[in-house]
Amino acid sequence: MNIVILLGAPGSGKGTVAARIAAADSSVMHVSSGDLLRGAVANGTEAGKEAKSYMEAGKLVPDALVARMIADRIAEAPDGSTMLLDGFPRNLAQADILDETVRAAGASIRSAVLLDVPDDVIAGRIAGRLTCPKCKAGYHVKNMPPKISGKCDKCGAELTVRKDDNPETVKDRLAVYHSQTEPLVERYSRAGLLRTVPGTGPVEEIAEAFRAAM
Ligand code: AMP
Repeated sequence: MNIVILLGAPGSGKGTVAARIAAADSSVMHVSSGDLLRGAVANGTEAGKEAKSYMEAGKLVPDALVARMIADRIAEAPDGSTMLLDGFPRNLAQADILDETVRAAGASIRSAVLLDVPDDVIAGRIAGRLTCPKCKAGYHVKNMPPKISGKCDKCGAELTVRKDDNPETVKDRLAVYHSQTEPLVERYSRAGLLRTVPGTGPVEEIAEAFRAAM
């Protein structure tokens, strides 16, 4: 099993791109730490109860909590598959944990692909973002509207706005990204694993550039 790490600010389009690539290739799976955590919160698990307040404040949840969830997914991934890891690692300590988890599982990190999007574009993307709570499909009121207003094209569920997508929390999430996650760009660059893809323009073109880079 090999892993492609998705790097990029909140709202850079990691989830959208990963979902497209995974939908077109059955050997590729999309694992999003944010989706795993939101699922745990929705199900009221112990991990979810612990994560909830950090997530609502736009802060990172404790490393061990999220690392455990990711390790479980890596352990159960079929041989020969590719995992698009979206949202993990989020800081240098998590990158160390990932290296260890990957080694123990006999897997490898194939590349780390940065979706490069300027902060001012990010703010506009997050304002207007809609998510399907059931199948996790993502939409945007202007850039990627659903066919029927407020309803998921794929499963028909009522679309929601993520609690942490309000302007105040987005500011905190971007600050956390720049201070804690951005150093990973340097780390994976030094390891010879970094690829950078411009994250602006039509989604299909971004996904194509991502596919070529990964
Ligand atoms: P995301 O959907 O990736 O934007 O993540 C939403 C929220 O979940 C983040 O703001 C964090 O509170 C939490 N989260 C997701 N992934 C991680 C991670 N790798 N480490 C710590 N917290 C995370």
